[in-house]
Amino acid sequence: MHTRESLTEAVRAGGTWDVLVIGGGASGLGTALEAASRGYRTLLLEARDFAQGTSSRSTKLVHGGVRYLAQGNVGLVREALRERGLLRRNAPHLVHDLGFVVPAYDWWAGPYYGIGLKLYDVLAGKLNLGSSKLLNRDEALERTPTLKTDGLRGGILYHDGQFDDARLAVTLLLTLLDHGGVALNHAPVTGLLKDGDRVAGVTWRDEESGEVFEVRARSVVNATGVFVDDVRRMDDPATAPMLSPSQGVHVVVDRRFLPGDSAIMIPRTEDGRVLFAVPWHDRVVIGTTDTPVEHTSVEPRALPEEIEFILRTAAQYLDPAPTREDVLSVYVGLRPLVKAETTDGVGSTAALSRDHVLRVSRSGLLTLTGGKWTTYRKMGEDAVNRAAEVAGLPPRLSLTAGLHLRGWTDAPGGDALAVYGSDAAKVRALPGADAPLHPDLPYTEAEVRWAAREELARSVEDVLSRRTRALLLNARASMEAAPAVARVLAEELGKDAAWAAEQVRAYRELAGGYVLAQPALAD
Ligand SMILES: Cc1cc2nc3c(=O)[nH]c(=O)nc-3n(C[C@H](O)[C@H](O)[C@H](O)COP(=O)(O)OP(=O)(O)OC[C@H]3O[C@@H](n4cnc5c(N)ncnc54)[C@H](O)[C@@H]3O)c2cc1C
Repeated sequence: MHTRESLTEAVRAGGTWDVLVIGGGASGLGTALEAASRGYRTLLLEARDFAQGTSSRSTKLVHGGVRYLAQGNVGLVREALRERGLLRRNAPHLVHDLGFVVPAYDWWAGPYYGIGLKLYDVLAGKLNLGSSKLLNRDEALERTPTLKTDGLRGGILYHDGQFDDARLAVTLLLTLLDHGGVALNHAPVTGLLKDGDRVAGVTWRDEESGEVFEVRARSVVNATGVFVDDVRRMDDPATAPMLSPSQGVHVVVDRRFLPGDSAIMIPRTEDGRVLFAVPWHDRVVIGTTDTPVEHTSVEPRALPEEIEFILRTAAQYLDPAPTREDVLSVYVGLRPLVKAETTDGVGSTAALSRDHVLRVSRSGLLTLTGGKWTTYRKMGEDAVNRAAEVAGLPPRLSLTAGLHLRGWTDAPGGDALAVYGSDAAKVRALPGADAPLHPDLPYTEAEVRWAAREELARSVEDVLSRRTRALLLNARASMEAAPAVARVLAEELGKDAAWAAEQVRAYRELAGGYVLAQPALAD
């Protein structure tokens, strides 16, 4: 078992690390696992919590990106489809096949999208999840019974992967620790150490004790998502920003709005984007938007017009259609979009690179950003290859394409504990496995204990937002569950009642930002 204390001690006593990764989202965790599984001494430092940023706020798809195919980016789609297939093999408890219906209301839509999706099948090759096919009207309605029937001709069915993003992040963390890596959350990097003009390590702060430490490393990878430019400025204050972030909003509604077993993909919204309505943990996630943002923040907020756009577009296809009152949670993620080297900084973010980018500064600092959750493994592989070159580490082959992630099982379950894979029995054996946290949430006290003991959860937010997904499934219910979570967490972490009360206050303040209408809470 790894505790915060034992891991902090390991960082302090660790000497010089081969690979030090800043940031514990998809990119950072993928890089750290890649390095540790090759046998490099690896440390990851995360400022807040693992996947606290963009990596817990995705559309929950492991996908090639049908939209990028429409843009003609065949190489990007092929790579992502390969990664989709590998991830499904390596984490079958977290990634599953989902059918997507593209509804057809025009005579040409079936053949037009049908041909594109056949190409998608071909690009996936042996790792394809299932063949796309044309659906007649009845077949489309059987899969997606709430589709508007007026003018519906049929649809196209295709397959992609679906996952739980923050649970995959926690799973990568546990796999990293299993491979001898060290990782800490609530541990922001505050500066870079240099030997002459070469990066030689970082300074970081333990947010719990307030202590500041120095740690030395042969290579440093900056994987801080929309914050990469902040770290690049620690390296060179004069450096020009490489990102032009945009935000994407999702709303979560009850499953009755999409009761079948398939998702809906709307290929062309009024602003020329795609919109998904995806069944997820017995709710429906609908999104997303693409709105350029000037300032990056840890808790971005949806604009009223983004919510209105999502609900208006959904109402063009769904009957009944969700309204503001039906929204259980609203969440917002920031895309770390990389500017073209020649960009003038003007224009639509939809045209910026969705491919990942790896840059090495004059000092040897590696910056890894862009890309998607789906390609985290390949991003990590590329970053570690480069880090080994830059730092002169002995070259070692990548093993991650065939590496089973923590909890791997050949018989993934379908119940509430399925995301733990082969660890589910251990969670079930903990005290509180029969004590629900809230009648409207599928979680128990045992999961809080597991999160504290095994998954480095340190706050009520860590538990309700990312170890469980309560905040996204029903933000108000999660606010009501906060006192129970704080009580169990305080017991597990040895904290007092004042700590628990402050945790509840802070959590409710945060979760208030995920609720659209705010009637009084039941305690
Ligand atoms: C709306 C939206 C929907 C998406 N949907 C999908 C999807 O369905 N499928 C898909 O494959 N991809 C999707 N993506 C893309 C995917 O989510 C991102 O590419 C990915 O999560 C980015 O991960 P990251 O690790 O680079 O950044 P982040 O997840 O933001 O991680 C960066 C981390 O660095 C930490 N950090 C920052 N500064 C410091 C510091 N000084 N010290 C230590 N740590 C620091 C942050 O706290 C954060 O945890 C979506 C993206 C968005 C915005």
